[in-house]
Amino acid sequence: MLSLQEIAAQVAGYDANALPVAQAQEFIARLVPRVEGVEMLALRASLGRVLAQGIVSPFDVPAHDNSAMDGYALRGSELAADATTRFTRAGTGLAGQPFAGAVAPGECLRITTGALMPAGLDTVVPQEFVTVDGDAVLVPAGVVRTGDNRRLAGEDLAAGSAALAAGRVISPADLGLIASLGVPEVPVRRRLRVAFFSTGDELRSIGEALPAGCVYDSNRYTLWGMLQRLGVELLDMGVVRDDPAALEAAFRQAAEVADAVITSGGVSVGEADYTKRIMAELGEVLFWRIAMRPGRPMAIGRIESNGHSAILFGLPGNPVAVMVTFYAFVRDALRAMSGTAALPLPMLRAASSAPIRKKPGRTEYQRGIVRRGEDGQWQVAITGAQGSGILRSMSVANGLVVLDHEQGNVAAGETVDVLPFDGLV
Ligand code: AMP
Ligand code: MG
Repeated sequence: MLSLQEIAAQVAGYDANALPVAQAQEFIARLVPRVEGVEMLALRASLGRVLAQGIVSPFDVPAHDNSAMDGYALRGSELAADATTRFTRAGTGLAGQPFAGAVAPGECLRITTGALMPAGLDTVVPQEFVTVDGDAVLVPAGVVRTGDNRRLAGEDLAAGSAALAAGRVISPADLGLIASLGVPEVPVRRRLRVAFFSTGDELRSIGEALPAGCVYDSNRYTLWGMLQRLGVELLDMGVVRDDPAALEAAFRQAAEVADAVITSGGVSVGEADYTKRIMAELGEVLFWRIAMRPGRPMAIGRIESNGHSAILFGLPGNPVAVMVTFYAFVRDALRAMSGTAALPLPMLRAASSAPIRKKPGRTEYQRGIVRRGEDGQWQVAITGAQGSGILRSMSVANGLVVLDHEQGNVAAGETVDVLPFDGLV
C-alpha cells in the first residue's frame, strides 16, 4: 500500500494548497482500494448491485433459427424473381410447438413469431403479403429476399461468449438477459459500508431546540440521500460534538466498521475545533485546498483503529459544498471501491442565457436551470445567489453548470457544460 506522499508524487502538478479538481480526482482514484467479498444473490435481488464475475452464455441465444414474423417459412431459392410463386402448405409450426414433419421442395410452413424454423427453410414471408387458396400459398414477386424475417441461432449471444462483464451495475435489461440464459443466481460484490457524521458545535438535530447561533444539521440528510441512491450500506453516526474524546471515539468506530467515512465540517484552514487534529492523529490525512468553488477545503486519507482502516473523506461544512464535493470526488471513489467500472457523468452542452463571471484557475459549479429552448437547443440560467450555504439553490436548480479550470468569463449565448441532476444520486 502506497503512502499518501507516494501517491502525491505520482500525480503530476500536485499542490495540496491549490489543487486542481482533476488532480484531486486522480489522487483519490489512486488512493481508494476495491473492497473484496462476493455474495450469491437470487436474480431479482441483484438489481443495482455490482456484478462480481462476468456471465458467459451457456448456450446459443436464441437456441435455434426461428421466425421473426407471423407468416410462411420457405426456401428463398425457390422464389421466382418476377412472377408469383406457388407453394403447398405442409403444416403449421407454432412458438413452443415445432412442426414435427419434413417440408419438401415446393412446400412451405405456416409459422408464428418465435417458432422454430425447420431444417432447409431460410426465409419467412409475412402473412399480409400472401394469398391463401386452400392448401396453396401464393407469394408475389419481390416481397422478400432469402434470409428475411429469420432470426439465426446465436445471433443474440453465441454459446461461450461473454454476456455481461464483471463490474457492471446490474440493470433491468441485465436481469432479463441473465434470465434468458436460465441463470437463477448471480455473484455480486458485497455492499460498501459507509459511515458518516456531522461535526460542529453549532449543529442541532431535528427535534432539538434551536438556540441563537445554532443551525439544524442538514448535511446528514443530503448525504443520506446521495448515499442511499448510490446503493451503499449506511451507518448514520449523528452529530459529533467538538470534543476530542467524542471525535476520537466516532472516528475509531467508523474505521472499525466501515470501508469509508464521510464527515462534514471542521476542515477549513482557520478552523479552531478538534476535528482536523483527531483525523491526523488516527491515520494519514492530507488537508487540501482545492481550486474549486464551492468546496475549497477537504481532508482526504486513511484512518485506522484496532487494525481496521477506512478511507476518510472530510468534506467542508457548507451545505452546497458538501453536495458538490460529493459529486466531484466521493461518488466516483465509492463506485470504484464497490468494484464498479468507471462511468463518467453525462454532461449537456447548453447556451448560457446571461453572462457569467468566472476566474480562470479554479473549477466552478454554479446551480442552473436547464431547459430546451424553442429552437430545440439546451439553454441554462444560473439560479440567483450562489453562496455555498444556500442549499435552496440546489433544490431550485435542475443541474450544475460546470465551468472548468481554465475557463474565464462566459458571454451570453456561449455554450457551457451542464451536469443534469436527473439521473444523479
Ligand atoms: P465549517 O466547514 O465547519 O467551517 O462550516 C461551514 C459552514 O457550514 C458553517 O456556517 C456551518 O455552520 C455550516 N455547517 C457545517 N456543518 C453543517 C451541517 N451538518 N448542516 C448544516 N450546516 C452546516
Ligand atoms: Mg465548523
